[in-house]
Amino acid sequence: MQLYTDQVKDSPYWNEYLETMPREKLDQLHLRRLQRLIKHAYEKIPMYQELYDKANVKPEDIKTLDDFRVKIPSIDKPDVVKSQTDNPPFGGSIVKGSEEYHTFYFQTSGTTGTPLKEIGYYRDMLSTGWVFKWWAHGIRPVDSFYFAFPFGTFMAFWCAYYDAVALGAQVVTSGGLTTEQRVRQIQELKPTVLVATPTYAMRIAEVARDMGIDASETSIKFVTSAGEPGYVLPTIREVTEKAWGAKVLDLYGLSDLWGSTSWHCPSHLDRLHLTESIAYPMVLDEDGGMVPEGGKGEWVLTNYATVMPLIKYRTHDIVEWHKESCDCGRTWTWLRDGVLGRTDQMVTIKGTNVYPTAIQTIIGETAGLSENLEIYIVTGPGGDAVNVKVEPAPDVPAEKHDDLKSTLANEFRYKIGVAIKVEIVPPKSLPRYEVKAKRVFDNRNKK
Ligand SMILES: [Zn+2]
Repeated sequence: MQLYTDQVKDSPYWNEYLETMPREKLDQLHLRRLQRLIKHAYEKIPMYQELYDKANVKPEDIKTLDDFRVKIPSIDKPDVVKSQTDNPPFGGSIVKGSEEYHTFYFQTSGTTGTPLKEIGYYRDMLSTGWVFKWWAHGIRPVDSFYFAFPFGTFMAFWCAYYDAVALGAQVVTSGGLTTEQRVRQIQELKPTVLVATPTYAMRIAEVARDMGIDASETSIKFVTSAGEPGYVLPTIREVTEKAWGAKVLDLYGLSDLWGSTSWHCPSHLDRLHLTESIAYPMVLDEDGGMVPEGGKGEWVLTNYATVMPLIKYRTHDIVEWHKESCDCGRTWTWLRDGVLGRTDQMVTIKGTNVYPTAIQTIIGETAGLSENLEIYIVTGPGGDAVNVKVEPAPDVPAEKHDDLKSTLANEFRYKIGVAIKVEIVPPKSLPRYEVKAKRVFDNRNKK
């Protein structure tokens, strides 16, 4: 019997129609999808309704991609987390009354502050984000996937699991096994694709070596990963490729953004393609203005999820983006050299690494404060220091302001382990912004 997949298995594309769609047509498709998404979000998701009302924009105002880029305000993780903590568990961040579509629960693995909670619908899980990458690099239905991880609340590998099923490949899970037992199972069942975080893929190879087994001699031909930035760094990729004698395929994606992933081009290792069937990309400058293609700025993505879409979601990753067709044949947007840095540059206070986004999250979670704040990164006598200005909410009486100050200072010490100077300013005294607020001021190099 010859299946349809047998006839197309030599194609370099998982979905040739979408992956090679001319840019103009692809943009028309994005526009239609974004218009539907904005209408859906405005009518059914309270967080967006409030945001768009504040920005004075209605779904029918989005007639072109430029309208979407300019008129729709961007959102940031603390905005979504705040909506969820104000009214747990999901606040206004999901479609009202959508319980019948709550197939999966996930949360981000943030190291500080409250994690972002996510609800996914089964249909979103069928977006085959990983399959595009696997197919481009030669993985086919004949392959066998070995999942070396427990199924927790981390989204990425669940997506990988469903995508391996969608590809039609064999799936072997190794849930509660020890690393040694996993090595034995790999020897016995001879899977060809290992799914693990970069760190754990190396750990398995080490344990195998201790057992007298050379991982590069096993059946594994591909190591595919997510969850850590590891393989974007060429040295880690090389070490893993050598240890396993396998091709390493990394996936860049934020677990916040359901399925919006990018992956190495099969023709150019320094290029990451965005899976444009799932997400719409933009790059913005510091003031929220559009960065033309070829330029550098912050990667801002919209995913086409059903229950909890993230629309113009700030990733804080700095990228250089290109939209010209690639010689692998794909028309999908690509990034040169992956992620170049972070907008929320790390601050080191007395040896502890602190991110302004973490500070912002803690302020957002502290009851009695307004959403307006300013974070100043300065050079103190002992190195970097951070001062924050926060406003009490208008209904907090003045005699309670000092309590707020000590509560917040304690939260910083407790949650991120450093002292941060807190200044309480009068209610409604900090500047308001129409679309994108300027909240972090890095004054380290200023006199
Ligand atoms: Zn390419």
